[in-house]
Amino acid sequence: MKSIKIFAPATVANLSCGFDVLGCCLDTIGDEMVISLTPESGVKITKIDGANLPMETHKNVAGVAVEALLNTYGKNIGVEIEIYKKIKAGSGIGSSAASSAGAVWAVNYLLDTPYTPEELVKFAMEGEKLASGNAHADNVAPALLGGFTLVRSYSPLDVIKLNTPKDLLMTVIHPQIEVKTSDSRSVIKHNVSLKQAIQQWGNLGGLVAGLFTEDYNLIGRSLEDVIIEPMRSILIPEFNTVKQAAIAKGALGCGISGSGPSIFALSKGIDTANNVAEAIREVYHKTGLDFDIHVSKINSQGVKVIE
Ligand code: ADP
Repeated sequence: MKSIKIFAPATVANLSCGFDVLGCCLDTIGDEMVISLTPESGVKITKIDGANLPMETHKNVAGVAVEALLNTYGKNIGVEIEIYKKIKAGSGIGSSAASSAGAVWAVNYLLDTPYTPEELVKFAMEGEKLASGNAHADNVAPALLGGFTLVRSYSPLDVIKLNTPKDLLMTVIHPQIEVKTSDSRSVIKHNVSLKQAIQQWGNLGGLVAGLFTEDYNLIGRSLEDVIIEPMRSILIPEFNTVKQAAIAKGALGCGISGSGPSIFALSKGIDTANNVAEAIREVYHKTGLDFDIHVSKINSQGVKVIE
């Protein structure tokens, strides 16, 4: 039986100005998975540790994503999946994406890489469709390609890996409250004004340029969301106080991670990222809510083998 153990990373989607198109891969936060090829055909989830998630293949994003890959592969292959969850579901840091991306990456590896990372994004998107009803790629693309990614187009799918400036660090707070995906979607108005659109695409272009030229000030100026954040931030306790505290401690920018409730801040250098974590911790202590805080380098590799 061919088998590997992998690290399936958490990811931060949207990054303020890139709703549904930008994402970034984290290094210290992620799940572990053991994926095995078996002689008996069919996809089985054999173990889930650390979370209460469905074991049925068709209800688990990892199972659905691997089935999408095997349907294209066309040969009779058996796959067994063990999931060791560290990323809490519904945290806004790509819990389902880690499972979908990790599973297809590992199966591709065990089959001697018949598919490109871009093709794997398509299979993993089937898992995202199960999790949220929408086959979005802004978490699975950075999990599979590593670093920062841009989904330039969904139809046809066109995913671009951006540059990762070496001193960038991510601080993430996950307040342990439940924000229903349906609520975080329902607060979004579907029309934007031309004025807002101009600001948003100016920032998106600025952020992409800043990542490539490693211009940290430009990255900071561009981490602004005039469309989604004003609507969604009302669902996250103390969002504005956290943001002000992070910026006061030197963060380049701060915003909602994915659909929340996690909040991310990007900083230049580990000392600033740690100071930002400390400032956010102080704000959240006062709320009495439970929360986790992580400081992570940007993972420019994506999913990786650990054994
Ligand atoms: P977030 O991105 O906010 O962390 P997700 O997009 O990961 O949240 O959504 C989690 C949803 O996906 C939950 O409803 C969960 O039950 C479902 N799900 C199914 N399989 C998995 C899996 N293997 N890992 C995580 N979530 C899964």
